[in-house]
Amino acid sequence: MTADPTRVLVLNSGSSSVKYQLLDMRDASRLAIGLVERIGEDSARLVHTPLTGEGAGTKRERTERIEDHAAALKAVSQELERDGLGLDSPELAAIGHRVVHGGLKFSEPSLIDDEVLAEIERLVPVAPLHNPANLTGIRTAQALRPDLPQVAVFDTAFHTTMPEYASRYAIDIATADEHRIRRYGFHGTSHAYVSRKTAALLGRDPSEVNVIVLHLGNGASASAVAGGRCVDTSMGMTPLEGLVMGTRSGDIDPAVVFHLGRVAGMSLDETDELLNKKSGLIGLCGDNDMREIGRRIGEGDERAQLAFDVYIHRLKKYIGAYTAVLGRVDALVFTAGVGENAAPVREAAVAGLETIGFAVDAERNAVRSDVPRIISPDDARVAVAVVPTDEELEIAQQTFALVGDARTV
Ligand code: AMP
Repeated sequence: MTADPTRVLVLNSGSSSVKYQLLDMRDASRLAIGLVERIGEDSARLVHTPLTGEGAGTKRERTERIEDHAAALKAVSQELERDGLGLDSPELAAIGHRVVHGGLKFSEPSLIDDEVLAEIERLVPVAPLHNPANLTGIRTAQALRPDLPQVAVFDTAFHTTMPEYASRYAIDIATADEHRIRRYGFHGTSHAYVSRKTAALLGRDPSEVNVIVLHLGNGASASAVAGGRCVDTSMGMTPLEGLVMGTRSGDIDPAVVFHLGRVAGMSLDETDELLNKKSGLIGLCGDNDMREIGRRIGEGDERAQLAFDVYIHRLKKYIGAYTAVLGRVDALVFTAGVGENAAPVREAAVAGLETIGFAVDAERNAVRSDVPRIISPDDARVAVAVVPTDEELEIAQQTFALVGDARTV
């Protein structure tokens, strides 16, 4: 009798890119990681790093024409094959796909069948940038291994527990329902993983703790998690709402859109591009990388300082709002690229919030580390923590659990 397969391939498919990780779920170790970018161009690039065997840790790069997602996955498969990790291996248990929008229907990861595919397709109007790319990734992987279980893990799923009063916009309810307009929230895989890890860091069960999670990457979102369930989140019907992000505005008066149309003569597409790609930190100061902004602030650059201040002001507003939503907060946790690495952001975000229980210890905050850690003083009312996120591991675990359950039925 052969042992049950234990490997999971995680795929995150964008419109012109695919990021992937192959994990062994016996010990949650990474066997290989990589990405393909500029799919459809002559100079597409594949960067692959095996993390096991002879070449472990040695990055391999290929630049060539990669026609489409099918060609990209074939190239990935070839690279994995060279490491003895080919996708045709009987050790591969499943492929887990990150799917951005699962609407209201998907509150859990789902084994992909025709019905699930049709529902992801139905959600394209509310996620026009993401869901089509996710669908392409799924169909390509299905064509490559039609026999293998494929699982969709939705970015929105963790947020489906929000009470209706938190997910409703105060607009005409019939219009909202007809067009499925409501707060869905995103980065759910990260919020779920990080809030659970934070409870473990506190030595408590997730059902006992209330946590504010600040996922601060190039995209950024906050969530209020009560006893392991999301009760509010800052991203809305799309990932545009909420915090100031690398290139997105976050919260804005919707009348700005009418104004830009009527007074500046901007089309809806131009305004969409302005708010999604040319706003946030990059719109305010020309840079979206917090490292560069920090460097410019050090040189006395006023634009960079303004961008930082707007970013921090918005963060503080959400920390205050979610403190009110939760009533009692046990932990405030920072994660993702900025949250995990930018000590000045963490310090500034809680500065002045001592009266509502938040403080960081300067020395603890300055430590650079990739393990979950508490950065508040010992006597703080609320634990302030840094917990590295790991969306791929969470997707792999959810995928493997679902496939394992399916096997034992
Ligand atoms: P993510 O989307 O989670 O990969 O985060 C990407 C962002 O993290 C980058 O755009 C940077 O702004 C930020 N970042 C990464 N490393 C650092 C660092 N050492 N200090 C400050 N910001 C960082």
